[in-house]
Amino acid sequence: MAEAPDSRTESICVGCGLCCDGTVVTHLAVSDESDLGLPLRGLGVELIYEADPPVFALPCPAVAAGECTIYGLHRPHACHVYECALSSSVLNGERSQVEARSIIAEVLDARSRSGSDPGAERRVADLVAEYFLA
Ligand code: SF4
Ligand code: SF4
Repeated sequence: MAEAPDSRTESICVGCGLCCDGTVVTHLAVSDESDLGLPLRGLGVELIYEADPPVFALPCPAVAAGECTIYGLHRPHACHVYECALSSSVLNGERSQVEARSIIAEVLDARSRSGSDPGAERRVADLVAEYFLA
């Protein structure tokens, strides 16, 4: 998930944040309030206990410009371990960082037009299904 700026040369996640802003996944699971943690609770995040395990809804209020603004503070365990298929494909050598960043840029571009363009909205959904959830 969205990483700190000092990871910029190493991770495609910096400047992406599509898993934090609700584009790739809609909720993240946590074990309890302590796992959610004070920083997110301070930002007004509430747990949905109807789910088992409990979840919180995305977009996360801590993501800004594709980066996690509480990266050095307590974050839920899910934030540490979540890895989308695109990130996995880079880490296992199937895809270059350049190619992955280009896919992320295409999603961000389509998403910026999706409010007024149903075709762009479908393009976001297609790209997410093809590259991030596969
Ligand atoms: S590359 Fe994947 S794991 Fe990394 S921030 Fe983007 S959506 Fe999240
Ligand atoms: S706490 Fe940070 S890493 Fe976790 S969902 Fe929010 S922005 Fe993403």
